[in-house]
Amino acid sequence: MICDNLSVKNGHLFFAGRDTAELAGQYGTPLYLMDEDRLRHNCRVYREAMGGAFAAALPLYASKALACRRVYEILAEEGLGADVVSAGELYLARSAAFPMDKVFFHGNSKTDEEIAFAMDCGVGYFIIDNLDELAAVEQLAARKGIVQKALLRLTPGIDPHTFDAVSTGQVDSKFGVPIETGQALDFVRRCLEMPHIRLRGIHAHVGSQVFTSQVFYDTADIMLSFMAQLRGKLGYTAEILNLGGGYGVRYTEDDPVVDIGGEIGRVAAHIKDGCSRLGLPEPMVLMEPGRSIVADAGLTLYTVQSTKTIPGYKNYVSVDGGMTDNPRYALYQAAYTIEPAGRMDEARDFVCTVGGRCCESGDMIQENVALPRLRRGDLLAVLTTGAYNYSMASNYNTVGRPPIVMLSGGRDYVAVRRETFADLAARDLP
Ligand SMILES: *Cc1c(COP(=O)(O)O)cnc(C)c1O
Repeated sequence: MICDNLSVKNGHLFFAGRDTAELAGQYGTPLYLMDEDRLRHNCRVYREAMGGAFAAALPLYASKALACRRVYEILAEEGLGADVVSAGELYLARSAAFPMDKVFFHGNSKTDEEIAFAMDCGVGYFIIDNLDELAAVEQLAARKGIVQKALLRLTPGIDPHTFDAVSTGQVDSKFGVPIETGQALDFVRRCLEMPHIRLRGIHAHVGSQVFTSQVFYDTADIMLSFMAQLRGKLGYTAEILNLGGGYGVRYTEDDPVVDIGGEIGRVAAHIKDGCSRLGLPEPMVLMEPGRSIVADAGLTLYTVQSTKTIPGYKNYVSVDGGMTDNPRYALYQAAYTIEPAGRMDEARDFVCTVGGRCCESGDMIQENVALPRLRRGDLLAVLTTGAYNYSMASNYNTVGRPPIVMLSGGRDYVAVRRETFADLAARDLP
């Protein structure tokens, strides 16, 4: 099994020590399950590794991976900070009493309304993406009579060799200001002139699903030498270095296991070396894991509705969910592992495409999956769905979104309830 919170007993798939077939019976399908204990474990791996390795550090959870009140409460209890990318995420975090001083507000297209709302919430830091936003933050901070703490988002000019759809660190990106072109230096200079902004440091996020720390070494090298340049040219010392997100998770057996604690130790040693070589004081280091906090804490259960064989072509299995609860295959052919949750001991000689219920040919969960010969009513489990599933879910075809049921120490509880017909009609004219 790809994660140690999965096991098999009496032909059934167990997740977080619980029989998935029993949970499907209790809550219905489609169903998102979240292993709270695994989520907390993932938080602690980052907090302990970063706390032990860096002079000062804080892991920030990238909310976009999965935002709901209960997750914010758990993160707050585990001592993490959070990234938000919209006023909506910020609102949700605040409504869960998440400490606002540990919230970092990201995004390449923040509106004046969002900027003002974030300031009214007392958000800790803005991660300012571009010159237009810099001017807007200054103006609104001045109007409110506050001094807003900020980091600046820079692009170090690195291609992380992952999917194009999830890489953001190259010079040609809609995010941030490039170092290579000289624009980043000007960005910092302009920010330092703003009386209502207190610049605390710099940020870069190179990409997601990163399996080797080489990407972080390269990012750190470029950012540290830029910090040295800031000292030399502007007499400014950045106190915070934010390295962005991205350690990878195992969607399939082909994905490597990342020893996140060990990797963070090596990144810290690399940064320490770089600082002493450049004569820089060691900055406080931030990282922004999203996927690697929640992905393997999640699993989705579906019920098979039909199977068919097209002779000479292929086999199809259709389930009661799809791109509405997991659009990642439709978006970029993301790989997933699928298990026949109630028939784990049977031979898997039926190679099929697992399709969703939506009226869209691209609505697939996965292709070329080996499963037993399934029947209507059988259960399927899609593994590692804790990240970018619920948060990317939609109501396409006017399908309600599944609930999130949390599992912890043998207990189960609803963190987000299933969407009802009334929810689906709630915003329409009466
Ligand atoms: C998406 C994103 C992250 C999180 O990436 P993961 O792959 O989920 O760890 C962190 N920082 C920024 C700026 C992002 O855009």
